Amino acid sequence: MKTEIEILKPCPLCNSIEKLMLYNEYMPLSKTNLGVIECTNNFCPMIVRAPTIEEAVKKWNERPREDFLIKQIDIEKESHKQTNELYVLALDEIIVLQEQLIEVETMYEKADKHNMGIKDYCETAYDELMDMIYDMKVKIDAIRKKDDERRRKSTYNS
Ligand SMILES: [Zn+2]
Repeated sequence: MKTEIEILKPCPLCNSIEKLMLYNEYMPLSKTNLGVIECTNNFCPMIVRAPTIEEAVKKWNERPREDFLIKQIDIEKESHKQTNELYVLALDEIIVLQEQLIEVETMYEKADKHNMGIKDYCETAYDELMDMIYDMKVKIDAIRKKDDERRRKSTYNS
């Protein structure tokens, strides 16, 4: 019997694993046995009856709510991981753009004030980089909003 008890999940009510009893209950009227699993922890009323011990074990171990939540948590984790990766990529891109911005500014300062070609080039490059940084910030905001939305939805559903 010990080996069968080891495949049982903890009691769904009190979470006890040590005080689980598994036995056959004789039914005098039908002259058959019922498989029974009982938690004998003090004050815990948990008991499962099924036509056979095997079915009782199956019934005892069935935790649809728990299984559902575990699955939900896995989905959340994966989604969170993906969001984090997107964040990191977007932030890296902003850092690169800001470095380029500093280069352009340095180039602008060092350029001969009469060399309008370089000055114009720098001004255009600067504006383009600022636009790209702005776009990246918008993208990050969108990622954040989508993540918040997802979080809110999953809170409502659970
Ligand atoms: Zn119990």
